[in-house]
Amino acid sequence: MMDSSQSQQQRRMGLVSLSPSQTPRSTEKNTRDLRQMEGNFNNKHDKDKGVNVQVLLRCRPLSEEEIRVHTPVVISCNENRREVSAVQNIANKQIDRTFAFDKVFGPASQQNELFEQAVSPIVNEVLEGYNCTIFAYGQTGTGKTYTMEGGGRKSKNGEFPSDAGVIPRAVRQIFDVLEAQCAEYNMKVTFLELYNEEITDLLALEETSKFIDDKSKKPIALMEDGKGGVFVRGLEEEIVTTANEIYKILDKGSAKRRTAETLLNKQSSRSHSIFSITIHIKECTPEGEELIKCGKLNLVDLAGSENISRSGAREGRAREAGEINKSLLTLGRVINALVEHSGHVPYRDSKLTRLLRDSLGGKTKTCIIATISPSIHCLEETLSTLDYAHRAKNIKNKPEVNQKMMKSTMIKDLYSEIDRLKQEVYAAREKNGIYIPRDRYLQEEAEKKAMAEKIERMEMDSESKEKQVIGLQELYTTQQVLTTELSDKLDKTQKKLENTEHALYDLEERYKQANSTIKEKEFLISNLLKSEKALIERAFELRSELENAACDVAGLFTKIERKDRIEDGNRTLVQNFQSSLTQQLETLHKTVSTSVMQQEQQLKEMEEDMQSFVSTKGEATEELRGRVEKLKTLYRSGIKSLDDLAGELDENSQTTFGHLNSEVSKHSSALQDLLKGIASEADVILNELQGGLSHQGEKMAAYAQQQREGHSRAVETTRSISKITMNFFKTLDIHASKLSEIVDDAQTVHDQKLCELEKKYEECAANEEKQLLAKVSELLASSSARKKKLVQTAVDSLRESATSRTSKLQQEMSTMHDFTYSVKDEWTTYVEKTETHYNEDIAAVESGKNGLEEGLKQCIMKTRMSAQQWRDAQESLLSLEKGNVASVESIVNDGLEASQMLRTRLSTAASAALGDLDVANTSLLSAIDRKYKLTQLLQFYPVPHLNETLLQIP
Ligand code: ADP
Ligand code: MG
Repeated sequence: MMDSSQSQQQRRMGLVSLSPSQTPRSTEKNTRDLRQMEGNFNNKHDKDKGVNVQVLLRCRPLSEEEIRVHTPVVISCNENRREVSAVQNIANKQIDRTFAFDKVFGPASQQNELFEQAVSPIVNEVLEGYNCTIFAYGQTGTGKTYTMEGGGRKSKNGEFPSDAGVIPRAVRQIFDVLEAQCAEYNMKVTFLELYNEEITDLLALEETSKFIDDKSKKPIALMEDGKGGVFVRGLEEEIVTTANEIYKILDKGSAKRRTAETLLNKQSSRSHSIFSITIHIKECTPEGEELIKCGKLNLVDLAGSENISRSGAREGRAREAGEINKSLLTLGRVINALVEHSGHVPYRDSKLTRLLRDSLGGKTKTCIIATISPSIHCLEETLSTLDYAHRAKNIKNKPEVNQKMMKSTMIKDLYSEIDRLKQEVYAAREKNGIYIPRDRYLQEEAEKKAMAEKIERMEMDSESKEKQVIGLQELYTTQQVLTTELSDKLDKTQKKLENTEHALYDLEERYKQANSTIKEKEFLISNLLKSEKALIERAFELRSELENAACDVAGLFTKIERKDRIEDGNRTLVQNFQSSLTQQLETLHKTVSTSVMQQEQQLKEMEEDMQSFVSTKGEATEELRGRVEKLKTLYRSGIKSLDDLAGELDENSQTTFGHLNSEVSKHSSALQDLLKGIASEADVILNELQGGLSHQGEKMAAYAQQQREGHSRAVETTRSISKITMNFFKTLDIHASKLSEIVDDAQTVHDQKLCELEKKYEECAANEEKQLLAKVSELLASSSARKKKLVQTAVDSLRESATSRTSKLQQEMSTMHDFTYSVKDEWTTYVEKTETHYNEDIAAVESGKNGLEEGLKQCIMKTRMSAQQWRDAQESLLSLEKGNVASVESIVNDGLEASQMLRTRLSTAASAALGDLDVANTSLLSAIDRKYKLTQLLQFYPVPHLNETLLQIP
């Protein structure tokens, strides 16, 4: 406030050396130096274990417009209880949520209240050497910018405007405190905007920025400082000496931002602005050493929270890719990762998170001011902001005081820096340094950046790996413990196993024994069963046998009974028989005696009868003898008649056989005659056939001859025709030659005539000439010459035409000749062809004839053969008949002989029979005589036996 512009200039000049590009280097060295002094300065806070991010909530009042429209309020803030409630009652939707924060500022809260309560302590910590960050987070139009920068800055008359924001108030506080301490200090500010992942320096001079624009619009790049920190290369650092200056700076930046806003559609709602204040304060140690204390305050006005893409948000309007705010999104993800303590925190995904890395989960003290609107229209967004902020409360930072630097070392650093810069300036001026092309430089820078990023990633990887290793080690130890336990268990179980194995072994042995005994028993049982079976079978057999035996016994008993009965019958029968026999014997005795008596009587009677019989017998024999004599004579006469009959029979048979013989011979001769006739007829027929065939053959030959003659005649006629045509052609030729001769003659005659005409004309002309010479000798000469010429030309033309005509004629003649020759040739070839055809035909006819003749010959032969066969058949028939006749004759003769023999035998037999008859008659007679004698004798000797014997004599 009290600083003059001169001193400001001086300070500025003095600190210009702290160019952005040098800052990291110097800090690097500072830290290195301070590390050595760590023992001297115990800056360790009691907040070692981590401090939660402080989250404040600010609800803006309803705007005038909103009040006018009577917008319902759905947010109620309880500052005392540090709670915010969102209450809404819609027909079917009940929202009632309450969130607690570290501090709550209602709509009525003033800028200074907020600053005093929430920001002032942070500024004090910055002055103590901490790095602090204040975020403003919330929907667009909820007062982020208002909170950070403040409203309009009308009053510039020393008095601070009541709606001044956090930034000017913080700056003023710093100055106030430092002035009060009379400390030597230096304060510089940077103001940058992050829009669409591009950094814009809001403090860059218009000219320079233009200049930069001209120089291929050099972008402001984020660079790694090699210690996990990030610095912005090429960022303008404004040295601030008075609090009022800050307004100029803010105005400058805001103006730039505003112009951009007008150019780009609502850029501010999508851009983040970071206002940083860096303070260096000189301190004196009790030993008199001078130290530099460093503190930094980041004031971040974030983009509207509605820029985070959320599904279903913003009336489902499709968002453009560019609208999705990467930095804001990543901030949310980083917060999530930090809250959930997940391994990887995606700081590197956006520039915002890279810039503010240390403020989120790092060594920075962080405060988030969440701004909301009480309007019902913003409820959804308000709730999300509340959720977000509430979640962010759980982030833990480990704030550390920046290590202090000794002034001397800092001065040394600065000097070396000055030297370096001087050299660079010198080199630039003299152009004898190393110049790197811009592109290459950029490339190298990019490479460096990439390398740094890579290193960072690798570090992170290694960290995670280390964590993993630790985890693994823990796991290993636990596993080891487990394994030891397991091994113990294993030992126990092994012992148990051994015991059980022994037991098992015993059991197995017992089992085996039991098995063997069982087997034995089984064997025994099976044997027993077998024997039982056999026994049963035996028993069955025995039973059947016994049954049979019982049957037999029963049969025997019955038999015995029957036998007894039969014996009884027999006994009775024998008894009966005995009694009957005795009776019969008695009766027989009686009958025998009676019969003897009767016989005696009968014998007596018989004697008497015999005597009568003998007498009658003698008479009878006499009669018989007479009768026999008669019979003898009768028989002789019979035999004689029989003999006569035989003789007649013989004669009769001879005659009949003779008839038969003659008949047969007659028949055979007739058959012979008939066959001869048939044979002769067949002969005649065959001869006729032969004759016919031969006749046909002759006819065929004649026909062939005729054909041949006809053909030869045709050939002759064709020959004659050809001759005639040849002659015709020859005559044609001759005529043609004659014609040509005639033409030639005519030509010569013509020529001669023409010559004569010429001569005559010449003579005539000469005469005329001579006659008219006198008169018009000259004229005439010329005319005559002309006429002569004319005549000559005419004659020449005539001659030429004649010669041409003759030549044409000759040509014609020659063509005719050629034609006739060709015709002749054709004719001769035709004749030859016809001759060959004729010859072929003749040969074919000849062959046909020959075939026919052969066929005829074969026919004749066959007829001859058949005639021969006929004759043979006749002869065989005749011989057969002769044989037949002879056999018949022999049979007849045999029959005659046999009949004759029979007749002789009959006659001999008859005579023999007569002889025998005589003998028999005599013997019979003698026998009858003897019988008669005997019967006469019997009459005297009546002995029954003799009688019987006599009776037995035949
Ligand atoms: P944001 O930066 O979040 O988009 P602004 O800071 O631009 O919002 O605020 C929008 C409007 O609301 C401004 O006109 C501002 O004056 C007004 N406003 C915001 N917060 C308050 C408050 N706490 N008291 C009075 N007016 C406020
Ligand atoms: Mg704003």
